[in-house]
Amino acid sequence: MIIVIKKDTPEDIVEEIKETLLSNGMSFDILKGVKFTLIPVVGDLTTSDVDRFRALPGVANIIKVSKPYYLVSKDSKEKTVVDLGDGLKIGEGLTFISGPCSVESSESIDKIASFLAGLGVKVLRGGTYKLRTSPYSFQGLGKKGLKVLRDTADRYNMKCISEIIDTKDLSSFEEHVDIIQIGARNMMNFALLKELSKIKKPVLLKRSLSAKVDDFLSSAEYLVSGGNENVILCERGVQSFDDITRSTVNIASVPMIKDLCHLPLIFDPSHSIGIAKYVPPVAEAAAVMGVDGLMVETHFNPANALSDGYQSLDFESFEKMHQRILKLISFINEKV
Ligand code: PEP
Ligand code: MN
Repeated sequence: MIIVIKKDTPEDIVEEIKETLLSNGMSFDILKGVKFTLIPVVGDLTTSDVDRFRALPGVANIIKVSKPYYLVSKDSKEKTVVDLGDGLKIGEGLTFISGPCSVESSESIDKIASFLAGLGVKVLRGGTYKLRTSPYSFQGLGKKGLKVLRDTADRYNMKCISEIIDTKDLSSFEEHVDIIQIGARNMMNFALLKELSKIKKPVLLKRSLSAKVDDFLSSAEYLVSGGNENVILCERGVQSFDDITRSTVNIASVPMIKDLCHLPLIFDPSHSIGIAKYVPPVAEAAAVMGVDGLMVETHFNPANALSDGYQSLDFESFEKMHQRILKLISFINEKV
């Protein structure tokens, strides 16, 4: 951190700042400039609330040099691969995760899983506890849905993922799914993050609609610092002034997050865009930008889906997109 002191700050106040730093066990230097005095400070500031130094008289600014997350950063580790078992790893190649927004019934999820497994998709998604804006909207099948999802995934040799919304359901999730999803609305539910940090089961953390990349990675730091290293990030767009799409697709964050952080990064074009027609081109762009996976909502009859039908791909569109992306990836691996 660098503390910037205003010109003409009386010497006794500078002394007070130095004493505060010394009593906090920090090393520093004093660089007197023409307009400001700079105090570069070194030491382990991870657990210090350095912003409090702004309250000292004479302090014009605090410049933070290191990020508030270390364990998920590239300074700590080069790459994380999350092993789901049976030879399936997230972080090695491009993994497709697909399925309906919600598990609606055992018949409907079976139909979708059968189609996806036929294409070679290995991870089945399905919401079971849904966070809906309206209390009158479909809320998910709950625990029964988790069991249906597990049984269906097992029938097709697939892994499965579903979103947890309450810590009281953790043991059911641990029993039934291979990846526990933390949805965008819960990215800053620190009680939930802390509970999921105590287990080893892979967690997919979605970016909140209003989170900066720093906030997103700080939430991931909660999981890893608590002991769960099996963390997968999921970019799903952010809210902006533009409502032409459901969220604003923030594709530039892909290479940036991959530069900053060693965790695998999945992209969710369905919730970013919210319109099925535009899902394939954005999914292709994300794949080319180097994401580790794509999570796409699929339904055999989107118009009849109990949630998010407007953004769900029908089987024909999913298959076309899937084939194009596989071709694009193999072209890139061969030629580039
Ligand atoms: C979902 O993936 O089911 C979901 C609700 O997405 P998000 O949390 O990104 O809105
Ligand atoms: Mn959905």
